[in-house]
Amino acid sequence: MPPLLVDTHCHLAWPDFDADRDEVVRRARDAGVVAAVLVAVDAASAEEVATLAARHPDWGHPTAGIHPSEGALADPEQMAALADLLDSGRFCAVGETGLDAFHERTPLGDQRRALEAQLALALERDLPVVLHCRDAFAGLREVLDVHRGAGLRGVLHCFTGDASDLEFVLAAGLHVGLGGLVTFKPRADLRELARRVPRERLLLETDAPWLAPVPHRGRRNEPAFVAHVAEVLATVRGEELEGLAERCSRNAAALFGFDLAGS
Ligand SMILES: [Zn+2]
Repeated sequence: MPPLLVDTHCHLAWPDFDADRDEVVRRARDAGVVAAVLVAVDAASAEEVATLAARHPDWGHPTAGIHPSEGALADPEQMAALADLLDSGRFCAVGETGLDAFHERTPLGDQRRALEAQLALALERDLPVVLHCRDAFAGLREVLDVHRGAGLRGVLHCFTGDASDLEFVLAAGLHVGLGGLVTFKPRADLRELARRVPRERLLLETDAPWLAPVPHRGRRNEPAFVAHVAEVLATVRGEELEGLAERCSRNAAALFGFDLAGS
């Protein structure tokens, strides 16, 4: 029996999967991945992940949101479309949204306004939020401080900050998503921080098609590879693989509001 796994962050609507999307889902299921959160980056991809989820009921759980690197984020019509999508009730979370000062493909002011609007959508609908933050923790802290005590829940996915950033994320009540980066040899800093995340706040992810974990580094990532992330985290945390995988999967199911089929 493979360990019970959930990939809490993958982008299966991306064109990288056009040739073999259903095969990728089958491989994930064979590897013990009993569910996956299918993350959107704009309104069009939200429709796509919802369609994919409908083809794999009880496995795929779609989100709707606008990524900080997408040009769509400054478009008021996209934000209105996003609100309508969320009203359809098909989505388990708002996101991904956040701040990216590393790539800064869109102006930070636009990113921030879009983040604030999406946090409001999540709070209004009592949905969790999927947050992206790259070299922008000071800004994220300012935005989240406004909502302190408002009952915001969610995950800071693909965590890449330092010890004080981790402290802030945990104090904000958020879960911490860890993926392929923790398997990269030079990221001993992330493995050290991964030991400090309380087990009830830890989530596993791939961020497929990007950031494939060792031993697949440099190739296309896919949800089945979340098993490699679980193995590394179990080792650095000194936990049994099965126990860690199951605990993270139950955390994911509780946060995103789905049942673990096949468990
Ligand atoms: Zn992502």
